[in-house]
Amino acid sequence: MNEFDEYGFDTLAVRAGQHRTGEGEQSEPIFPTSSYVFGSAAEAAARFSGAVPGNIYSRFTNPTVRTFEQRLAALEGGECCVATSSGMSAILSTFMALLKAGDHIVSSRAVFGTTTVLCTNYMAKFGVETTFVDLVNVDAWQAAIKPNTRLLFLETPSNPLTEIADIRAVADLAHQHGALLVVDNCFCTPALQRPLELGADIIIHSATKYLDGQGRCIGGAVVGRADVVGKDVYGFLRTAGPTMSPFNAWVFLKGLETLRLRMEAHCKNAQQLAEWLEAQPQVTRVNYPSLKSHPQHALAASQQKGFGGVLSFEVQGGKEAAWRLIDATRLISITANLGDTKSTITHPATTTHGRLTPEQRADAGISDGLIRIAVGLEDIDDLQTDLARGL
Ligand SMILES: *Cc1c(COP(=O)(O)O)cnc(C)c1O
Repeated sequence: MNEFDEYGFDTLAVRAGQHRTGEGEQSEPIFPTSSYVFGSAAEAAARFSGAVPGNIYSRFTNPTVRTFEQRLAALEGGECCVATSSGMSAILSTFMALLKAGDHIVSSRAVFGTTTVLCTNYMAKFGVETTFVDLVNVDAWQAAIKPNTRLLFLETPSNPLTEIADIRAVADLAHQHGALLVVDNCFCTPALQRPLELGADIIIHSATKYLDGQGRCIGGAVVGRADVVGKDVYGFLRTAGPTMSPFNAWVFLKGLETLRLRMEAHCKNAQQLAEWLEAQPQVTRVNYPSLKSHPQHALAASQQKGFGGVLSFEVQGGKEAAWRLIDATRLISITANLGDTKSTITHPATTTHGRLTPEQRADAGISDGLIRIAVGLEDIDDLQTDLARGL
């Protein structure tokens, strides 16, 4: 990566991590091989002992996966990246590598639903306790920290309300207490937000979303310091095995080449749709950080280069009206996934947040009339027409 330090984001996005083979290929090759051949018994011994670096087995390293890792590390401005089989295995690997029984996590409440399940059903089983706090309330983060707190974990903007965490303030808090800040940067990607520059220690990605960008593969990544990610997280990964396949790595590394262009187009469409929705009489509220009505517009503008591709809004008439609008769409896909060129629409109260009690949903701000859209790259006029049908 160091060879690329002098280059800008766009150059890194298309060049970083490429190591051309003797064939002189222009595009990055896929290496579908499970193991690697040594020139001699002595060379095998030297690689296995670690005395000589090099490939041994694709659960440890693979050239295509390495290209993706180096490219993403360069884009996030991190020393090191390890690729994983999914976003969830990126989070699991980070927790397993850095925590032990008796440790404590403070996490924002509005994280990806499965992350909550991982903490409460599985990490708890091994003696790691999690306290959930309000993302935007720095005092609540402070109050939740205990002597055994090792990790602070957040996602910003939050899903589906697009609340914004003050990354620098939470990072400072973590460091005052000897803990690390982990940021799930799935919604912004490094094209819009680089949390390491704001003091975060570890970045999590679900590559499944915008890094792929076209809804094809499942994958994830962890980015951060070489001693933490390159040593500890990598150590867990090569032992436990949730590694990325070379084919998926190739899809993702090609996705990175157009990441900034796609993110800008997602932001532009989302902004236009948010402004249009705000003007509709049946819409009582629109959550999107570019809007002046967004309570943390200024914070979002200060730490993000763009406001992202996800927005949510409330319609008059509760669940019935929300379902009617969703069912009237002909173009937008009814699915909870996001980060795709194709726009997706979902009703959080009965899907992603359906397992919460009505009180928990009310606490989390998920009303029955709330609809989330992950805005894709279709023509904005067509998206508006599709939504106007059910309004
Ligand atoms: C989807 C998602 C994950 C989990 O990623 P998978 O690739 O589905 O395992 C984690 N965090 C966020 C914010 C996500 O949207």
